[in-house]
Amino acid sequence: MQIRYALLLLGALPASVFAQQSMVGYSAANAAKERDVEANAINRPSPAVASAHSRELSKETHVAGTPAQARTRDYVIAQMKKWGIETEVRTYDVWMPHPVSVKASRVSPSPKEFALAEPPIAGDPTSSLAQYPTVNGYSGEGDVTADVVYVNYGLIEDYAQLDSMGISVKGKIAVARYGRSFRGIKAREAEKHGAVGLFIYSDPQDDGFVQGDVYPDGPMRNPNGVQRGSILNPDGDPSTPGYASTAGAPRLRPDQMEISHIPVIPIGYGNASELLKFLKGPGAPRGWQGGLAFHYHVGPGPVKARLAVKDDRATKAMKPIFDTFGFVRGTEFPDQFVMVGGHRDGWGPGAADNVSGTVSVLEAARSIAEEMKSGWRPKRTIVFATWDAEEWGLLGSTEYVEDDSLRLSKNAVAYLNQDVAAQGSRFSGGGSPSLRPTLRDIARLVPDPAGGTVYSQWRKASAVPDTAEPAMGDPGGGSDFAGFYNHLGIPIAEWGFGGAGGVYHSQYDSYTWMTKFGDPKFVYHTAAAKIGTAMLLRIADADVLPYDYVEYARTMRHYIAPIDKAIGEHHWTASTSALSASIDRLEREAQSFNAARDAALAKNAPKQTLERTNQALLQVERSLLRSQGLKTRSWFRNLIYVADENNGYANMVFPSVNEAIRANDASLTQSEIADLASRFDKAAQALADARTAVSQM
Ligand SMILES: [Zn+2]
Repeated sequence: MQIRYALLLLGALPASVFAQQSMVGYSAANAAKERDVEANAINRPSPAVASAHSRELSKETHVAGTPAQARTRDYVIAQMKKWGIETEVRTYDVWMPHPVSVKASRVSPSPKEFALAEPPIAGDPTSSLAQYPTVNGYSGEGDVTADVVYVNYGLIEDYAQLDSMGISVKGKIAVARYGRSFRGIKAREAEKHGAVGLFIYSDPQDDGFVQGDVYPDGPMRNPNGVQRGSILNPDGDPSTPGYASTAGAPRLRPDQMEISHIPVIPIGYGNASELLKFLKGPGAPRGWQGGLAFHYHVGPGPVKARLAVKDDRATKAMKPIFDTFGFVRGTEFPDQFVMVGGHRDGWGPGAADNVSGTVSVLEAARSIAEEMKSGWRPKRTIVFATWDAEEWGLLGSTEYVEDDSLRLSKNAVAYLNQDVAAQGSRFSGGGSPSLRPTLRDIARLVPDPAGGTVYSQWRKASAVPDTAEPAMGDPGGGSDFAGFYNHLGIPIAEWGFGGAGGVYHSQYDSYTWMTKFGDPKFVYHTAAAKIGTAMLLRIADADVLPYDYVEYARTMRHYIAPIDKAIGEHHWTASTSALSASIDRLEREAQSFNAARDAALAKNAPKQTLERTNQALLQVERSLLRSQGLKTRSWFRNLIYVADENNGYANMVFPSVNEAIRANDASLTQSEIADLASRFDKAAQALADARTAVSQM
């Protein structure tokens, strides 16, 4: 009833608002039905239900490979079954050592054994439960004692600066602060430069008292708060690089794996200060001073530390991990599917990371299952996934993608990722440029807890001019979309509500923290789930898949000027004109496809026409893959975005070309430009095929 009333009102809205409500890829009749379904479904996610799921899933630390994490699998499966959703669990055995003992101390001056565990906090019940030891995932084993050197963020350029000062970490224990790069890169660089051990600490300037009051008085990190986290650089189980960890799969030996060989542990700034304040040697170079209340020095020494890590790799390194799936079968195009997923494992109770994402997936599943009680069915199959061992290096999603790559390559129309769906009120979204307009449309549809729509609050917070859209993130790396996007070229989208990140990967990322600071009323969890619900429905029910390759081509065009600039600086003769021309062709083809699509939908194109059109559309982004991958990393086949191999978090666009420039190779740069241009031509051809298909009635 409510929705009919809303539709009547719609006629009274200004034309611009009406235009925003148009549904790309839908016939008029199907758009009207879809509006009803979406309006009903997005009303269902509820703060009370979200809060109950959150409390249950964050009641104990649930690290991958532990019994507690098997319990979250059972909870998710039981919920889906209760709602009548068909379920599946996939198990993979992965090489994932867990610590047996972790110790750290200052040896001199004045010996001091460090308390590493995060102490209980009154009023936060899970802070007094068993916690996971403070060691980085995939740390090497070892017991080392050596002089300490402060290496700032431990970036490649930080070691270059140390070199210029005549300071080496060879045979020393490095102390790096978190931030500016993925911690795996910090570990790799420390080992490469000869360090025998590494402490990675949370500086108060980054997420501690410099940023705000600390837990439990505020949301930021207190001196004992520790950021755990993996230092594995490649994605997936390191014993099966590039293929799935199924039963009987061949395995690398540990000495063949791309893993750290030195012990690496994370510490809070309380302990870090006990090392750093006694360091001598040169004063911190410009930009190296952190937030502790003394002037930083680089060392080496006279501070000596000891760091000792022992794990179970000799006895039971192999552990099972569990991905869960729920399926709602499509009626018209049942082989095609759209999937939403979030990782289910954490380093602590994980209320934000990633119980919030799991809750968003669960609430979307419940809303859509409920919709089916009225007899409605989606056109395409919808899949609700939760991944295990994301925190160790995207293990669960990567093994699944490698296991199911043929089916995914052929039939997956989109993957939607939910990692930290809610820990504050500030919306952000991103993904493949082809899905960004759909995500903006859905943000215009979903009410924001602070009033208006998610889109209007997002605009307000990003303070962009009327003519521009709020910025959206590129899919670099660092979460479960990587296998889908980087390896298989499947369009992806992600979103969430951000805020203070002071308990990231800590035992204090708890239900209590969430109810005090992150999302006390669970309204942002609910909003994230509403967006997920509508995104799934919008993509699953479309007559023609709603990818926007005009926006895609326009986004790509921005990446050419920096390449021209680099070529100019090198005084090379290479030219980007072929690349420019192929991106222009992609935009032209996209525009004529859009016009042909809308004409066909106005005439109610038959199912066969739609089927052929959608098949052709699926090939557009797949055309931008190179089967042999990047020269630096063969698993990464998508040539549009990738995580920078020197940083791990930062995104690199057109990586085949930009890595050639970085390697200072003029002829490789030219041939990579030609290669990329030929792939854009193939993508444009796929759009031309889609136009031909949609025009045949
Ligand atoms: Zn996460």
